[in-house]
Amino acid sequence: MPELPEVEQVVRSLRPVVLGEAVEGILRLSPHVLVGEGSLWQALKGKPFRSVERRGKYILMEAEGGLVLGFHLRMSGRLLYREGPPFPGQHLHLHLALTRGHLLFWDPRKFGRCYLLSPGSPAPWDGLGPDPFDAGEAVLAEWRRRRAPIKALLLNQRILSGVGNIYADEALFRAGIRPGRPGMSLSPKEAERLLQALREVMEEALLWGGTTFRHFQDALGEEGRFARRLSVYGRKGEPCPRCNTPLRRDVVAGRGSTFCPACQV
Ligand SMILES: [Zn+2]
Repeated sequence: MPELPEVEQVVRSLRPVVLGEAVEGILRLSPHVLVGEGSLWQALKGKPFRSVERRGKYILMEAEGGLVLGFHLRMSGRLLYREGPPFPGQHLHLHLALTRGHLLFWDPRKFGRCYLLSPGSPAPWDGLGPDPFDAGEAVLAEWRRRRAPIKALLLNQRILSGVGNIYADEALFRAGIRPGRPGMSLSPKEAERLLQALREVMEEALLWGGTTFRHFQDALGEEGRFARRLSVYGRKGEPCPRCNTPLRRDVVAGRGSTFCPACQV
């Protein structure tokens, strides 16, 4: 599932091609994937996009007048920009014809969602925590207040947004912390180190265009190149890059979590 670096990569690839482009035609192919009243879709017509931003793992495109088109890619969703055909026929859920190009929402597993909301109305991205780059003392204190495993706290989007399984495992490895440790067992220094590790690994991933395991591509069809640089995620049984101990995989908070049993304590 795309996490902060992958979603940010989509946003960065979309910005130069959709900003200022107006919506000239709308084809809604899968109503259950698209959330928003029919009248709002009508109102979107003719409106140019004024901004493309990321909030947690959401992509938010604001049109003139304040309508917000929000996307969550979940497992396999892609937001694609194409100058012209051929378009992917199967699994295409939304097709927006823009002034010059085409914006397509494509998702074979259909877990992704597209929301069209009027300004100020309640949105699924309300109540998200800050992302690791904006997080501060309040997030560290929240982790250290809770009994849940730190892995679960990292994945809780209300505390901190944008982190998923890959970068949670990578940051825990860098910080030398086991995924199953209760949040309240972390020292202030460990919590600080973990947040710093999250920022570092996400910054590096951004430089490589994110991580592609199976599905991820940015809006222009580029895959991320960070997968080969992951230290622990998906590497169960391989030697720890730091101490050579075979990496172990446990289920923590319902998610597979790979870690080094020697240098993560
Ligand atoms: Zn190790």
